Amino acid sequence: MATKCKRKVEIPGASSKLGKPKTTAAAAAELYPNHPRPTPEECRSVRDHLLSLHGFPQEFARYRKNKVIHDSPDPSKPFFGEDGSDETITRKEGVLDGLVRTLLSQNTTDSNSTKAFASLKSSFPTWEDVLAAETKCIQDAIKCGGLAATKASCIKNILSSLLEKRGKICLEYLRGMPVDEIKAELCCFKGIGPKTVACVLMFYLQQDDFPVDTHVFRIGKAIGWVPQGADREKAYHHLNKRIPNELKFDLNCLLITHGKLCQRCTKKGSNNQRRTPHHTCPLFNYG
Ligand SMILES: [Zn+2]
Repeated sequence: MATKCKRKVEIPGASSKLGKPKTTAAAAAELYPNHPRPTPEECRSVRDHLLSLHGFPQEFARYRKNKVIHDSPDPSKPFFGEDGSDETITRKEGVLDGLVRTLLSQNTTDSNSTKAFASLKSSFPTWEDVLAAETKCIQDAIKCGGLAATKASCIKNILSSLLEKRGKICLEYLRGMPVDEIKAELCCFKGIGPKTVACVLMFYLQQDDFPVDTHVFRIGKAIGWVPQGADREKAYHHLNKRIPNELKFDLNCLLITHGKLCQRCTKKGSNNQRRTPHHTCPLFNYG
């Protein structure tokens, strides 16, 4: 458990939208006992509909592979991909890399945050190099991801806190910890809010968690899975209670993808040819 939590400072305009982290006791209580949706059957049905519409999204494929390996009864056994190839050599991304990658993704596009992370890694070969660098140099390396000054300061704070508390700049120790303790550890870092923690849990620690991003939140409300008065954090606790663990990963990835592509479910109109036409939205009959 964390012993020396620094005061949490959310990135302005980013995680402040996500609300402050609550205690695990709040998470354990049933927030909406009279809102019995989604049912497990609905979750499965939406997963199946979205899967047949979009296929499994390529951008999440490597995370899914790691999840399958993690959940396998014998992780030492080879994992065979759909093409029959032995894919045991798939490398898991480090937890610290995952945390920084997720931090950089706040309030920007996937493409810009991917570029910012690649630029950071190519500018500084190790996390020790990042810690030793001037904050301005880190800022320059990640500037294409926006909010560079704040994010650079958060990254430095994470690295120095780890060195001070653990004696080395590494977050792999989280892999063996219970989810509640992982949440407590990560929420201690400034700029790390509940949604970032949930993303790290799901994508980099292969835990059964269900982050609520803007797409999941909007679709969840539109189809009646999230009670109308719920904010993002309440929606997170409600959906995590209701959605069966084994469906969380696929359903989350599919809802994010659907939220980006469906004309009906996206907030922004677009001429993007890849978008799903309104009449083919399989979520039309829900809600
Ligand atoms: Zn839709």
